Amino acid sequence: MSKPSDFDVIVIGGGPAGMMAAGRAAGRGKSVLLLDTNEILGRKLLISGKGRCNLTNAGNIDEYLENFDKTGPFLRDAFSRMPHNDLMDFFEKRGIALTVERGRRVFPESGRSKDILEALKRHLKESGVKVILKSEVKDIAINSDGAKKVILDGGAEYAARSVAICTGGLSYPETGSRGFGFRMAEKLGHTVIAPRPALVPLVTESRLPRTWQGISLKNAEAAVISEGRKKAERFGDMLFTHFGLSGPIILDLSSRVHDFLIRRKDVYISINLKPALDKARLNERLIREFSGHSGKALKKVLKKILPLKMIDGFIKLCGLDPDVKANQVTKSQRQCLIEKLTDLRFKIKAVRPIEEAIVTKGGVDTKEINPRTMESRLVKGLFFAGEVIDVNAKTGGYNMQAAFSTGYVCGDSL
Ligand SMILES: Cc1cc2nc3c(=O)[nH]c(=O)nc-3n(C[C@H](O)[C@H](O)[C@H](O)COP(=O)(O)OP(=O)(O)OC[C@H]3O[C@@H](n4cnc5c(N)ncnc54)[C@H](O)[C@@H]3O)c2cc1C
Repeated sequence: MSKPSDFDVIVIGGGPAGMMAAGRAAGRGKSVLLLDTNEILGRKLLISGKGRCNLTNAGNIDEYLENFDKTGPFLRDAFSRMPHNDLMDFFEKRGIALTVERGRRVFPESGRSKDILEALKRHLKESGVKVILKSEVKDIAINSDGAKKVILDGGAEYAARSVAICTGGLSYPETGSRGFGFRMAEKLGHTVIAPRPALVPLVTESRLPRTWQGISLKNAEAAVISEGRKKAERFGDMLFTHFGLSGPIILDLSSRVHDFLIRRKDVYISINLKPALDKARLNERLIREFSGHSGKALKKVLKKILPLKMIDGFIKLCGLDPDVKANQVTKSQRQCLIEKLTDLRFKIKAVRPIEEAIVTKGGVDTKEINPRTMESRLVKGLFFAGEVIDVNAKTGGYNMQAAFSTGYVCGDSL
């Protein structure tokens, strides 16, 4: 076993939270060791936002809290200490031009998450953080005097007064987040709210989405229906897949859907393919299209209304033949088409596994962490930041900002 080295601070996990925490602590003159199990830092960050990294959201604090789950208020302090504009300044000062897109989502102008990672790595270097990669932490031991020992897979040990656990959740385990932080927090006496998938695709009972696999819908509206009522809705983009439904608005609704599935309630996603038109205007539009092309096959006429690959399957939902002439469609058949265009309903049978979730819901109980410092209320000198904490938000850059903000506050207190 190697002789323990001494650092003021050891940060476990080199994702957005850990890199920010380590850089901030070192910037304050602390000697900092950052450990990550991977051969590179920020593996999840690199694949985030489809490789473009939606690093934050330029909305105000109220919008932020609306987009978080019920533990969101825990983050109020962290967001005021490191708000999105400070984070944007952080990167812009390091030469990264940023751009704000639809829904106030912030991306690097280059469209490359790698640029964000490179800026963070420069920050770590400039502030003097010692980084050791390919170092999987297996255990943390705490002496009676509060000193901490971090033990690696190969047996090496490092000692420090303070340790920050920034090891993420359980989603996309191939990026390194495999639940170590949860296990360690529990071992050290903390409550871990049961981890479950959030921002996760949905599996439908019907196989119809499979035949539409790869088709994405822009400006659609999706609603969660259960107990005969609309429980939540979202407007934007979505996608059909080989198992069911995915894409931003579906991911955003997935937590609500999961709540009903856990309670063994029937739950449906209702898709409005034409949310800009009410049923009366949609009826007028169909009448216009059908009478303007009365001799044409229905499937040809619907080309202006639906993505091409969807048309045949969609028409069959109303028991119609796709080759029927537009002028032969009866009023009740037209009503059926309108019904399906505005309320295309799929019963959901499951969510995809946590490994495929964008974020993990659950984690270290926020009640056991001081929101002003990110220090454990139970173990002095033990800190948490990022997704390991029981906070999660909808898509839009909020999750990454939460990791950066909690990382910053943690680094400021370590
Ligand atoms: C496909 C995908 C796309 C996403 N896109 C976005 C987006 O565009 N915008 C957004 O806001 N959020 C996005 N997210 C979510 C966001 O990436 C995470 O919320 C964020 O990375 C969490 O940061 P973190 O530092 O807490 O954890 P992570 O980024 O998971 O980092 C944890 C680090 O800890 C290391 N580690 C774990 N265990 C150990 C151990 N035992 N020893 C040593 N090291 C260890 C891991 O290797 C990893 O590097 C996306 C997630 C996914 C999966």
